This record gives sequence, C-alpha cells and structure tokens, in this order.
Amino acid sequence: MKTEQSQSLFAKAQQLIPGGVNSPVRACKSVGCDPLFVKRAAGSKIYDVDGNEFLDFVCSWGPMILGHSHPSVVEAIEKTLRDGTSFGAPCALEVELAELVIKALPSVEKVRFVSSGTEATMSAIRVARGYTGRKVVVKFDGCYHGHADSFLVKAGSGVITLGIPGSPGVPEDIVKNTLSIPYNNPEILEKTLRDKKLDIACVIVEPVAGNMGVVAPQPGFLQKLRSLTAELGIILIFDEVITGLRLAQGGAQEYFGVMPDLTCLGKIIGGGLPVGAYGGKRELMDTVSPVGPVYQAGTLSGNPLAMAAGIATMQQLAQPGFYAALEEKAARFARGLVMLAEKYLPGQTTLNRVGSMMTPFFTAGPVVDFDSAMRADTERYGRHFREMLAQGVWLAPSQFEAAFISSAQSEADLDMALEKTECSFKKLAK
Ligand SMILES: *Cc1c(COP(=O)(O)O)cnc(C)c1O
Repeated sequence: MKTEQSQSLFAKAQQLIPGGVNSPVRACKSVGCDPLFVKRAAGSKIYDVDGNEFLDFVCSWGPMILGHSHPSVVEAIEKTLRDGTSFGAPCALEVELAELVIKALPSVEKVRFVSSGTEATMSAIRVARGYTGRKVVVKFDGCYHGHADSFLVKAGSGVITLGIPGSPGVPEDIVKNTLSIPYNNPEILEKTLRDKKLDIACVIVEPVAGNMGVVAPQPGFLQKLRSLTAELGIILIFDEVITGLRLAQGGAQEYFGVMPDLTCLGKIIGGGLPVGAYGGKRELMDTVSPVGPVYQAGTLSGNPLAMAAGIATMQQLAQPGFYAALEEKAARFARGLVMLAEKYLPGQTTLNRVGSMMTPFFTAGPVVDFDSAMRADTERYGRHFREMLAQGVWLAPSQFEAAFISSAQSEADLDMALEKTECSFKKLAK
C-alpha cells in the first residue's frame, strides 16, 4: 500500500498540530501505525491522499449512518449554503430539526442545539445541578461523555472512590464532584445513590456503552437506574450521542423502553456536520436561559448548514424499515464474524453487538464493564487493525471503540469484509 502522501502530510502536521491530529485516537498510536490522511469519502468507502480505497467501519465515529456524501444530505447542504452559512439569529431550520428531534425522542419535550457532544453533556449536567441545587455527578467507569473537566475522571476502584483528575489541567476541586462507579453493577449503583451524604445531582450514562468498546446494559440495569433515580429525586441523563438515532429513531430510550429526564445527542443529528443537542422534560429545559437562570450559549449553535444536514438525515431515517434493514445486515455480519472467530480463534474473542454498533474484543469475555474490557489483547487488535487496513478495510484505530454498520454498506461490502477478516484471523491464529 502506498502511503507517501500521508507520510509527508503527517510529518508536516506534527510540526503544526499536537501529534499531527485534532483528536487523539486518530493518531493511531494504540494500533502501532501512522494515520492515513483522507481525501474524500462516498457511500461505504473512504479514499486516502495516496489513492487507496477502504471500506469504512468508523463512519466518522458514528455520524455517517447513511454512509458518506449521501445525495439528499449533500443536496440539503448545498441548497442551504447559497443563503448564507451563519446568521447568529434564529432560523426556520432550527425549528424544523427541533420538531423532528422531539417527535423522534420519546422523553424529549424541549431541545437546545449546541455544536458538539461535549457541549451537550457539559450543559446537561449544568441543568441538572442548577435544577437540583446539588453538586455531585455520578458516571460509570469506561463511559465517555466528551472532554469537559467534570468527565475526565480516572476510573476509581471500590464502592465509592472520590474522583482524581484523569488529565493534568483538570483541578481536583472540580472532579471531586464526580463519582465514577462500575457499569452494570446494580449493587454498587444502589449503595452509591442511596448515600445521602453524597449530594448527588445526576447520573449520566451511555445507555449502551460505546467508548470502552460496545458494552450492552445487562437486563434490568437501566430500569434499576431509572427507578432509583426517580425515587431519590436524582436527574437521570442518557448520553445518547452515539445511540440516539443509531439504535432506533428514538435512540436507546425507545430501544429499551426506559425514559431519562435529560438526553444528550450529537453525531448522527448533525448528519456529518458539527452539532450536539440536549433536551428533556419541559420543566428541566425551562431552567435554561433566557427562560431560566442556567446559562448556556453558542455563536454557531443552530447553524443553518448543520440543521439542514440533520434534517435531511432524519428524513432518511424515518423511512419505513430503515432500522429493521440495518439490524438484519448487522446481525448477518456479526454471525459471520462469530463463525470466523470460533473457527480460527476459539475461546479467544467476544463479540458485543447492539443493533448496528459492535466490537469484537480479543478476550474470552464476557465483556460487561471497564475491567473486563481492559482484559482484551490490544496488541492483537493492533495486528488485526493493520492487516485489515492493508486489505482495504478501515476499522477504528483502537480496541475500545465501536464498529458501525451504515445503510450504505452493501451485502457485497460486508462479505468482502468477512473474507478479509478470515485472512487476518488465520494469521493471528498462527
Ligand atoms: C463522541 C461522544 C461524545 C462527545 O462528542 P463530541 O462531539 O466529540 O464532543 C459524548 N458522549 C458520547 C457517548 C460520545 O460517543
């Protein structure tokens, strides 16, 4: 595979941008290679600057559920573009997307648009704290909620470990108000939430974890989370930045039938442009300025191009049978992966899948939380990643991320990916 152009761009980028990238995982460090620079993407494929073609399972980390450059999304952006790119004043497209989001997400009565998932989660905990007058945020080990200070808490062990900074630059004073507890552990959850000394404002959760690799909530976990938080007057926030519009139009809340108080969205609702959103019960959302005192603002929030891309994307997702077709495709592909793993790497892999998001872990499993995910053999994943890339398949450059199925991937695409996987697993088995 030719990589000269990428190599020379990367050399230059490293002089100009920290690590040569604008988001760290892209640097491909954990899989032992240098990043490829992308020139363009269309449908299920992504093309680098050296002219190599890849079948894409990253899908821009989730947003591209329709594949790249979907004609109706491109058309919507082009049409909107001609009338200007940002107004700093309300526009009709914001109302239209808000209406679609509220209709799709069963627990959302009012929504505020921002420009990233990070802004959405950051704002949602501000609302929860403002509304309850309490301080502490409970999160789960291995869940990612963007890079705001409050969420960068190293996973602590034990029932209740007060947060220590997971990054220099994040003051102890801030993260001491964040508690991180194990995912899928109802006993620790209950004990933590019932501790009156803790002054808990909210619990934030990825209803299907996607940022320690895909980890499904065990049966009853989300229901328990809902009933405890409701009983104790704690705000429940679903971070559906990945799962929203991914598992169903109504996200994980529709998929599992569990309703949070606040929902964070991102990725898919921007159709590939920078958008985030947070929304929920009217009573909570009306604490946000200018109605209420909880301040939150954004120069480019509700950007017309991003709104247009989101609307066009949501219109496609609303077509009858969209999610059933995606599920069928993902299930068939996953069956293929499991068969290959059993044949070549028996007892050495676990496939976690919910709908069109999945992670093959290189560990016997089961993978149900951060600790069990960490047992995966990342060196082996790195070898698999590099082999697949060389064979024209673009996987996430980390074991602890999801592979996404898009509507643009054809059966032939997925069969090709299975063939390449077979070659890679054969080599790994040696
Ligand atoms: C990607 C992600 C975020 C952060 O979104 P950005 O747009 O990258 O700021 C937050 N929560 C979850 C679950 C995510 O996957």
